[in-house]
Amino acid sequence: MKIKADYANAPQWKELAIKSRLPEELKCLDELAHNMWWAWNYEARNMFMSLDADLYEKVGHNPVLLLERLSYERKEAIVKDKATMKCVKDVYAKFRKYMDVKPDSKRPSVAYFCMEYGLNQVLKIYSGGLGMLAGDYLKEASDSNVDFCAVGFLYRYGYFTQSLSMDGQQIAKYEAQNFNSLPIERVLDEQGNPMVVDVPYMNYQVHAYIWQVNVGRIKLYLLDTDNEMNSEFDKPITHSLYGGDWENRLKQEILLGIGGILALKKLGITKQIYHCNEGHAALCNLQRLCDYIDSGLTFNQSLELVKASSLYTVHTPVPAGHDYFDEALFGKYMGGYPAKLGISWDEFIGMGRQNPDDHGERFCMSTFACNTCQEVNGVSKLHGWVSQKMFAPIWRGYYPEENHVGYVTNGVHFPTWTATEWRKVYDKYFDALFMSDQSNENIWHGIYNVADEEIWNTRMALKKKLVDYIREKFTENWLKNQGDPSRVVSLLERINPNALMIGFCRRFATYKRAHLLFTDIDRLAKIVNDPEHPVLFFFSGKAHPADGAGQGLIKKIFEISQRPEFLGKIIFLEDYDMQLARRLVSGVDIWMNTPTRPLEASGTSGEKAEMNGVVNLSVLDGWWVEGYRKGAGWALPQKRTYENQGYQDQLDAATIYGMLENEIIPLYYAKNKKGYSADWLKVVKNSIATIAPHYTMKRQLDDYYDKFYIRQATRFKKLAASDNRLAKEIALWKETVAERWDAIHVVSKDAGLLDNGGETGMKYKVTYVIDEQGLDDAVGLELVTLKNDHSEDDHEIYSVHEFKVVGREGNNFTFQAEVEPDEAGAFRSCVRMYPKNKELPHRMDFCYVKWLD
Ligand SMILES: *Cc1c(COP(=O)(O)O)cnc(C)c1O
Repeated sequence: MKIKADYANAPQWKELAIKSRLPEELKCLDELAHNMWWAWNYEARNMFMSLDADLYEKVGHNPVLLLERLSYERKEAIVKDKATMKCVKDVYAKFRKYMDVKPDSKRPSVAYFCMEYGLNQVLKIYSGGLGMLAGDYLKEASDSNVDFCAVGFLYRYGYFTQSLSMDGQQIAKYEAQNFNSLPIERVLDEQGNPMVVDVPYMNYQVHAYIWQVNVGRIKLYLLDTDNEMNSEFDKPITHSLYGGDWENRLKQEILLGIGGILALKKLGITKQIYHCNEGHAALCNLQRLCDYIDSGLTFNQSLELVKASSLYTVHTPVPAGHDYFDEALFGKYMGGYPAKLGISWDEFIGMGRQNPDDHGERFCMSTFACNTCQEVNGVSKLHGWVSQKMFAPIWRGYYPEENHVGYVTNGVHFPTWTATEWRKVYDKYFDALFMSDQSNENIWHGIYNVADEEIWNTRMALKKKLVDYIREKFTENWLKNQGDPSRVVSLLERINPNALMIGFCRRFATYKRAHLLFTDIDRLAKIVNDPEHPVLFFFSGKAHPADGAGQGLIKKIFEISQRPEFLGKIIFLEDYDMQLARRLVSGVDIWMNTPTRPLEASGTSGEKAEMNGVVNLSVLDGWWVEGYRKGAGWALPQKRTYENQGYQDQLDAATIYGMLENEIIPLYYAKNKKGYSADWLKVVKNSIATIAPHYTMKRQLDDYYDKFYIRQATRFKKLAASDNRLAKEIALWKETVAERWDAIHVVSKDAGLLDNGGETGMKYKVTYVIDEQGLDDAVGLELVTLKNDHSEDDHEIYSVHEFKVVGREGNNFTFQAEVEPDEAGAFRSCVRMYPKNKELPHRMDFCYVKWLD
């Protein structure tokens, strides 16, 4: 036998989790560590820190890792330490008291789908605002004790950590997460084996583990494909957030939507409302359609039920924020679905097209979401309007302001984002019922009873905390990465906690215009270097690895920050994450935001600032349009002066410099004998009292229930009652109307006003006789009048007059409108016919329109 040079088989590694043993008295810590409740309860975080402060720092404030690393001697010492044990018991008692409240079943139950969740920096499954919002939402759902669950991904690498090279180039590093050290639990099946959900892809299946994050009282389920059951091609589906190519993105969206529903099914969970947070998860409606069809309903009947129970929230007006897939790629993965749905391929892909018959148009997830969700909303009042316009082409026959796209303005989770120092102030001065009545401005007015000195001391303590944090956290890195150590030392020495501190921290997307402040470098140098009135700017944020322009901005700001005149005055802080964000939104004096109008859908970091007595200076865009109050912050006008973006940037920059020089800096430094400016504190108090109450996550959650969930759940219940009787009736009615629609026609009319015009103060009758083709009062007519001195894109609807049915003969219905012009001028009128049924939620639900001659 020939002896081989080497001969070995591959090891079959077994995953072993060795748990760190806890003494009986500390067993409750494991339960506490595995519930993210600690992320928004500072007593719990302080308790974990007290177990071993150095280690707590070292493990990045991760309680699970802390317990894992805590030596047994230390644990035994803790058990003997009466004070620490009391603290552990108190925290656990508080936790149990929170958890043992029975869930409130009065409000509808909700399943929430999102690509990312920002719960805490320890769990790297978020990148930016969308994730923060979703994470905050879950925490509030827990606090409000509603019946709620959520679905997302457990990313192996998550989003990248950011560092800068010596010349300011962003370096993105993806670090693998060790799932066993995270505050999550594996979901097991009845036999105690890891639960696996099988998700169909083309002609095979992808297998995903399900993990569970306990977010207080509610559960977030995370899917994970990075396992040996999957091929090398499919393992990476849950590797990184917003990474990979379009094919991987489609595979992710299949997993989130279709896999998400299958996972809930496997877990035995059904909810009344399915909330699609951003278009990424829209395919959940595809799986739900398939499920209804499997249960014996037709496609049209199923669509009625799916739509009634689903809501789509859109988060961005930027086209790059919406996913489009080429027909070839989409077909590769989705080709099997038309057969399951009982419709044609063109009909299926058409559900993702603004013009279903345009075969060149790519499939858009957002359009699919609009076509399969009864309700759609933007995330601020202005963004609601922008979204109405953006989606208007889907509903031809109506003007943007007529469609149903609504809004709920984003908020932030108060306990997560309010510094402990402020929590204590609020606890002392606010009504005890505050937490359950957070939107009540009267309670917040309690801030006016707090002495100026206490406000000032709280602010100063937080400023100092921020500066200490920066010195501690960044020194080592800067010495390593920024070359000249003497420059780093000098930078650190120059950071002045008494300076007026301004923060600009957010994703470096170009529309956010981080460069604006640097439009006039000399003027800026004068502002920051006034020895009597020093000013300090902090910049922080990541640019998407594929966004060259965003990275260029970071580089430019970094370079400027290294110039002698800006050293220690303009500071770029790497790796913006939740922890740094918490320090910054509470530590600076002013939170600045300068987006290009109207591209900031909402923005939330400025809301976090509000809770911490940090005042906003921002373009009137997103939430600030609603939030701004005079005397409680500063606003750049909402209206664009210039079409040309360059000019607009210059004007905005000049406005900001002027505000700083003439108003903001003098106000901040109008210090009295006690060392603070009473007028500044007035602004701080005003902003806490009048703005903060309207931007909590509690208000947002309540809005979603009041505007959407409750109404939709009620309607769904009606549709599904008695074996889906109403859903079937509506589907049949729509089918009949659709069949006869083209044949429904005008038999005769008497519309002199439309042909000849009229005079003010006179009454005119407009009459149409319509042959409804055997339908029973199934159409409505309305006279739509526009002002004629506007172009088509800049139209103005003057009036809409509903016709009344005044007679019927056989198939012929007589419609009449009585019009009394009350304004002279040039108008355009036309009669619009639409299908009429009081069971429809709105016109867009069945968007057939015929403009009559
Ligand atoms: C709040 C927050 C955001 C979102 O801030 P915007 O103002 O919406 O841009 C992004 N990243 C982190 C880490 C945050 O805390």
